[in-house]
Amino acid sequence: MKISTLFNESKPIISFEIFPPKQTTSIESIYSTIDALAPLSPDFISVTYGAGGSTQGKTVQIASLLKNQYNITPLAHLTCVGGSKESMDQILDELEREGVHNILALRGDLPEGSSLGDFSYASDLIKYIKQRDSFDVAAACYPEKHIEALTLEEDIKHLQYKVDCGAELLISQLFFDNDAFYKWRENVRSQGIHTPIVAGIMPITSGKQLERMVTLCGASIPASIQNLIKAYNHNAQALKEAGIAYATMQIIDLLASGVDGIHLYTMNQADIAKRIMENIRGINYAVRTKRA
Ligand code: FAD
Repeated sequence: MKISTLFNESKPIISFEIFPPKQTTSIESIYSTIDALAPLSPDFISVTYGAGGSTQGKTVQIASLLKNQYNITPLAHLTCVGGSKESMDQILDELEREGVHNILALRGDLPEGSSLGDFSYASDLIKYIKQRDSFDVAAACYPEKHIEALTLEEDIKHLQYKVDCGAELLISQLFFDNDAFYKWRENVRSQGIHTPIVAGIMPITSGKQLERMVTLCGASIPASIQNLIKAYNHNAQALKEAGIAYATMQIIDLLASGVDGIHLYTMNQADIAKRIMENIRGINYAVRTKRA
C-alpha cells in the first residue's frame, strides 16, 4: 500500500520506527521485534538507514520482510548525503524489485570533511525519486527547527520546497513539548503547507538516551521532563514507567488536537510500544481534521 492512501481515512494513523541490527548482529534478531510489533497493527513501519554506515543494505531487506512476510506497509528511510545518482538508482531498483513503494527521503547528517555527492539537500533526492512513478515520498520536518537552520521561518521555507518537489507526508523530529508543536503546525499551515504531518514521539527510557538524542536533534526539554529525570534516573524501571506515562499523555493530547498521526520511535523496544498502544486503545479514534 502507498502511504498517501492512508490519509483518505478520517482517523489518525499510528506508525512505528525501527532500526536495522548492527553489522555484527544477524538480520534474524529483528524478527522478535517485528513479531511483537505486528499484532499492534501499525498503519506502517519505517526502517532507518545508516547514512554512510554499515547497516545500509539491511534497510531494504527489512522493508521487504515487513511487506512480504508480515504484510505490513513498509516505509524505507533513504539518505542521500555523499551518495551518487548511480548509488541511489541501485537502491531504488532494489526497492522496486522488492515491492517497497514508500520512501522517507532524507539528506542525512553531514559527515565532517566529506563531500556532499550528487545531492545537496533532501529536496534534491525527492525530485530524483519522483522521476519514477513507483514511490510515495515522505520527508522529515522539525517543530523546533532543524539544528543547522538559522530561523524557524527559513526552515519552513525549505520544508515548503520539499513539499513542492513531491513529498506527500511529513514526519516530525521527536519533541517533548506539545505546545511548541502546535505553534509550529499553525505556522506551517498558515504558510499554505497542507500535507499530512505525523508527530514523532519518543518515550524516554534513560537519562543518557535523552541526552544523546537532544544533542543530536536539539529538541528542548520541558521542566516536567527534567523533573522526571531528576526523580527517577537512579531507578531504571521507574524511569521507564514515567517515560511510558509521559509519552502516553503527549499522544492523548495530540490525538485530541486532531493530529494527522503519531509516529512512535520504538528504539526496537516492542514492549514499550505495546504498553503505549494499550494505554491509548479506544481513544485513537479522535476525528482528524480533514484538510483541503
Ligand atoms: P534537509 O531537508 O535537506 O534539510 C537540512 C538542512 O538544510 C535544514 O537546516 C534545512 O533548513 C536546510 N535546507 C534545506 N533545503 C535547503 C536549500 N534549498 N537551501 C538552503 N538550505 C536548505 N538520519 C539518518 O542518517 N538515517 C535515518 O534513517 C534518519 N531518519 C530520520 C527520520 C526522521 C523522521 C527525522 C526527523 C530525521 C531522520 N534522520 C535520519 C536525521 C536527518 O538525516 C537529519 O536531521 C539531517 O541533518 C537532515 O535531513 P533532512 O532530510 O531533514 O535534510
